[in-house]
Amino acid sequence: MLIVNEVFCVFCKKSSKDDYFLRKTGEIHGPVKCLDKNKVVEYFFHFYCAFWAPMVTYTFDEEKNTDDFTKIKETIALAKKLPCHVCKQRGAALGCWYKKCKKSFHYLCAKQAKCFFDHPNVFCEAHLDLSENKKNYKRKNSVDSFSTVEN
Ligand SMILES: [Zn+2]
Ligand SMILES: [Zn+2]
Ligand SMILES: [Zn+2]
Repeated sequence: MLIVNEVFCVFCKKSSKDDYFLRKTGEIHGPVKCLDKNKVVEYFFHFYCAFWAPMVTYTFDEEKNTDDFTKIKETIALAKKLPCHVCKQRGAALGCWYKKCKKSFHYLCAKQAKCFFDHPNVFCEAHLDLSENKKNYKRKNSVDSFSTVEN
């Protein structure tokens, strides 16, 4: 996908022209058309900013060479209300796996906060130990082979 104009990630708010963020958070995807106060608004997002959001499932259709992020609209609507535990800005789509934990993060903020990533789950540092008991949580899908951005 080629996006010529400058757009901003609906989650981390960084510009599509910010190369550092593109390297760290993946290509900009979009637009996703959402209804906001009866107006259609187009949103863009970095791949990893959406990929690690707990509601989102990423699928890739090899035949059609198209991909899809399910529940992306719901995630955008939710993330707009959620402040990030690290930078305090809204758009924090990544919630800690532990349901009682209220922490949410942006993708790079979660990395900074040393969250543990085990797709599709993210664990904050305080609840990292829960990730060890794998029986306690189920994987929503299997994209284990999918490469993640290395820091
Ligand atoms: Zn982003
Ligand atoms: Zn943040
Ligand atoms: Zn937590």
